[in-house]
Amino acid sequence: MLTFAHQEHIPSYYFDSRNQDFQLPALSQIEQADVCVIGAGFFGLSAALELAEKGKKVIVLEGARVGFGASGRSGGQAINGFEEGIDEYIKQVGFDKARKLWEMSLEAIDIIDERIAKYGIQCDWKKGYATLALNDRRMDDLIEMEKASHENFGYQNMQLWDKAQLKRHLGSDIYVGGLYDSNSGHLHPLNYCLGLAKACLNLGVQIFEQSPVVDLIEKNGALEVKTDRSAVIAQDVILAVNAYIDVLPNSIHHGINRKILPVESFIIATEPLSQTLADSLINNGMSVCDNNLLLDYYRLSADNRLLFGSDSSSEKDMIAVMRRNMLHVFPQLEDVKIDYGWAGPIDMTMNSTPHFGRISPHIYFTQGYSGHGVALTGLAGRIVAEAILGDDQRLRIFEGLKVPSVYGGKIVKNLATKIGVQYYKFLDRFR
Ligand SMILES: Cc1cc2nc3c(=O)[nH]c(=O)nc-3n(C[C@H](O)[C@H](O)[C@H](O)COP(=O)(O)OP(=O)(O)OC[C@H]3O[C@@H](n4cnc5c(N)ncnc54)[C@H](O)[C@@H]3O)c2cc1C
Repeated sequence: MLTFAHQEHIPSYYFDSRNQDFQLPALSQIEQADVCVIGAGFFGLSAALELAEKGKKVIVLEGARVGFGASGRSGGQAINGFEEGIDEYIKQVGFDKARKLWEMSLEAIDIIDERIAKYGIQCDWKKGYATLALNDRRMDDLIEMEKASHENFGYQNMQLWDKAQLKRHLGSDIYVGGLYDSNSGHLHPLNYCLGLAKACLNLGVQIFEQSPVVDLIEKNGALEVKTDRSAVIAQDVILAVNAYIDVLPNSIHHGINRKILPVESFIIATEPLSQTLADSLINNGMSVCDNNLLLDYYRLSADNRLLFGSDSSSEKDMIAVMRRNMLHVFPQLEDVKIDYGWAGPIDMTMNSTPHFGRISPHIYFTQGYSGHGVALTGLAGRIVAEAILGDDQRLRIFEGLKVPSVYGGKIVKNLATKIGVQYYKFLDRFR
């Protein structure tokens, strides 16, 4: 069951290795702003930062703590492109718009580079990422993916690796090969999120924590964003609540929750490994995902822990399940201790296509990054800010993408997610 209101950070490796510690006050009196952002994860903070850089007065309302949600718990892998293949977008919106979408996905990585440099954010940002295939059919998918980005858009940063080339960098025998991308990378997600918040605060953005939004109403040509204790009056509102959308009343989300299926993902962190053992797992600093539908993803942290994640439906004793998954990839870790385990909701859509748009002319949202949110949220913040500032061209390209709805109440949706996960497990076994 998803909860956020008045929560503290969940225990995790990221929380224990955070490099900033601030607690911000709750909203206690009525405030005015040009823009009110609901949710202080990557997306909300990215939008707030872009708007504050352009001189807008911005207030961010966070129901729990900055980075409490997926942003502060994720695998930290910033991957270019989209979960759905770019070929599908060429079919949907035509070549020129698909090219713009592809270029925007590359810009999403540049945004991370820029912000880290501009605001001096310490978050262990490292380039290098590989998608790995467990059998020849899935290797064919990677060959297609490389061809699509290279032939269509001239992208040069990807390299196909056969089993032998992969083995030079990865100490696992279970893959047949992979696709390495030197431009994607990984970071400490909570420290990046706290760094974005710090940058916002320095530009005059007001961030209120422990301030859950309970209602949103139009009043005298403005928007009143009500928390459980007070309210913000703003011209524009950005809904940046991600998978927590399901917990909100219809008066806030107006049915856009139908596009999101929150899938639980779990991560374990080992104890710090010796340099020799760490190098025997991954020796080039890359992060890794396989290309299953329910995938495993992993990387080494700055202090040489293996952070190993898997998508799944909740099972009893997830740490034991995750350890089993990890040992399947790296049996050499049999004697290594697991220090941490935590979970969070990934904002999937039915067709893994991001869902960006407007509920009304002054209420904006983006969601459904489908496993690419670490990178795409930065871009989403920028293009929603552009729209608020008067140029919605790029937002309209995203609004043209088709995202199916899941009908039925919460029970039906939970069931759909569980059945979907089981179905994906079945497909992964036989694809
Ligand atoms: C375990 C895990 C691993 C992942 N790994 C990766 C990965 O490696 N790469 C990748 O690209 N993506 C990954 N993701 C997905 C990625 O983290 C998300 O797509 C991204 O962080 C979404 O950012 P966000 O700002 O939209 O949402 P969030 O970070 O979830 O922020 C939403 C915020 O809104 C707040 N909120 C909700 N409702 C209200 C309300 N009513 N009032 C006030 N505040 C409210 C919440 O408390 C929360 O802080 C992972 C996700 C999880 C959970």
